[in-house]
Amino acid sequence: MGTFAEMTDIIRLLPDAVANQIAAGEVVQRPASAVKELLENTIDAGATDIKLIIKESGKMLIQVTDNGCGMSERDARMCFERHATSKIQKADDLLAIRTLGFRGEALASIASIAQVELKTKRHEDEVGTSILIEGTEFKGQSPVNCQNGTTISVKNLFFNVPARRNFLKSNTLELKYIIEEFFRVAMVNPDLAFTFYNQDKILFQLPAANLKQRIINLYGPSYTQRLIPVEQQTDLVNISGFIGKPEFAKKTRGEQYFFTNGRFIKSSYLHHAVDSAFKELIPDDSIPSYFIFMEVDPQTIDVNIHPTKTEINFQDIKSIYAILHAAVKQAIGKFSLSPTLDFETEQSMNFPPLPDNHPIRQPVITVNPNYNPFEKKIQPQTSFSFPQKPPPSIQGWRELYNTTPAQGEIIDFPSARTGNFGESGADSSETTNRKRGVQVQNSFIVTNTQSGVIIIDQQHAHERVLYERFLEANLAETNPGQHQLIPQTITLSPDDAQFFQEWESHFRKLGFEIDDFGKGSFVIHAIPAHLETSDISTFIESVLESLKSPGQEQKNDQSQVLAKAMAKKLSIKRGKKLYQEEMDSLVENLFACKVPGISPDGKPTMLVISYDELNTKFKI
Ligand code: ADP
Ligand code: MG
Repeated sequence: MGTFAEMTDIIRLLPDAVANQIAAGEVVQRPASAVKELLENTIDAGATDIKLIIKESGKMLIQVTDNGCGMSERDARMCFERHATSKIQKADDLLAIRTLGFRGEALASIASIAQVELKTKRHEDEVGTSILIEGTEFKGQSPVNCQNGTTISVKNLFFNVPARRNFLKSNTLELKYIIEEFFRVAMVNPDLAFTFYNQDKILFQLPAANLKQRIINLYGPSYTQRLIPVEQQTDLVNISGFIGKPEFAKKTRGEQYFFTNGRFIKSSYLHHAVDSAFKELIPDDSIPSYFIFMEVDPQTIDVNIHPTKTEINFQDIKSIYAILHAAVKQAIGKFSLSPTLDFETEQSMNFPPLPDNHPIRQPVITVNPNYNPFEKKIQPQTSFSFPQKPPPSIQGWRELYNTTPAQGEIIDFPSARTGNFGESGADSSETTNRKRGVQVQNSFIVTNTQSGVIIIDQQHAHERVLYERFLEANLAETNPGQHQLIPQTITLSPDDAQFFQEWESHFRKLGFEIDDFGKGSFVIHAIPAHLETSDISTFIESVLESLKSPGQEQKNDQSQVLAKAMAKKLSIKRGKKLYQEEMDSLVENLFACKVPGISPDGKPTMLVISYDELNTKFKI
């Protein structure tokens, strides 16, 4: 406790040179990002007892209270300035970062998009300071009686950026993201106490404990029997933590944790090191659980490549791969050789038998410095990951819950990034300078602009184009439907007919002309202008089918839901070869969209790699 406590006013403004070294990033994408930043600040402040309160999945309130070092009156005001940090002073400090935060961007970013109240007191001060700030506007300051430490309340996140607020997912999903961030912080700090209230109810109460106990407190008592310890000390890296026993491997992601120097990181490369150590012990489509801590010399990693710092560069990742792989193998080997050492005999009987011709040997750790894991079957990924946090909608979800690891598949969010493809549509200079695209893998279109290379996912892109067209029709005053020479009749089962009637007005809005003949028969006289399908009957049936599937977010306008369902049905699919003209018109149409960067489902339509980024990647 009290790392910063001894000094008086401790926050300084970063010199521009340092500020520029720190790539500006989108710090707060969703409530969970704010939670992460606030929790990390409490750790940096040396707190031992941390309380998180959430209302409406953080959309209404995120409040974090700690018993850390607190701030002086001046610091309380300063901490909301951009690049206000007490943690680094000069460029060299970046090379030896021990704190979680260092950019001095989090509070400034949060305060610019929410109503923030800060109450803070250092233990040496008589009274604390209370500050109110709203969308960067300073609203007031007063002395306040409060506990030692800091409470920050973030209310109505994105209250002044409705576009961002509207892009937030359902409360269930946003809460899930928050819990994920909470788990990461709680797991890496088992010696600190955490309490997490959601809607006034305690969701997690975690007393200070050791790692094993913390994992059990997070996941439940059944985990007592599931964990195998991993331990390996080398000059390069010290590895500790737990892996899940092979028989508990799951088909879904979510229990894979790497921490480096107290920081949660993602690495599909290191994931492979662990995963492959489980080979033959678990089914191919299962993923082992692991909670692995790696301590390395901070000089040998670069945490600065990713604004939200979940990806880091290791100087010697190949050796770390080899050490990690061997350590996990050894842990599994030890466990299967002498399960009675750590576990009750009864439990060990559940261990799946190895194949007959596969003698169990205690693995010997030999670290070959020339080891090159790329030689075999996996593809290099470190060289092709983009140092920008992918859009919230895909990343957490896909990376954490899908079974396929997204190797080298981190996707960028162009509109948030370059500003060129934002809500206002394509910048004209971008448009004129765009070269013709080429199609790769019959799925992606690669093209470029003045500022970078763009890779477009043809399916998501086309969904976006169609979606906006259908919605335009919806907004048009006159009915834009194209009349059918021969009206088509569709016949639906009684419940489908009923369902269709519920949606009929929305079909009409989008340009359908429908006569209800009763008994499940409908005659379609006209269809939307951009609808190119010969079999309207099948089309409508399949759209109805997809409208029935759960997850149609209720808050959305029903016509939007329908437009989305239609766009998805009609879109060009991945795997379809496109002619040059088709490609060009898709690209043009995409950039003419209001929101070209994301599909109607919120998935990215394109990924932008700026030339700057390429230069950095290729170390030019
Ligand atoms: P960073 O963590 O990158 O320095 P932040 O914007 O997160 O930037 O915080 C700015 C500064 O505010 C920190 O450097 C720290 O001095 C101070 N601060 C933030 N949160 C706390 C807290 N909970 N307790 C004490 N000081 C804090
Ligand atoms: Mg911080």
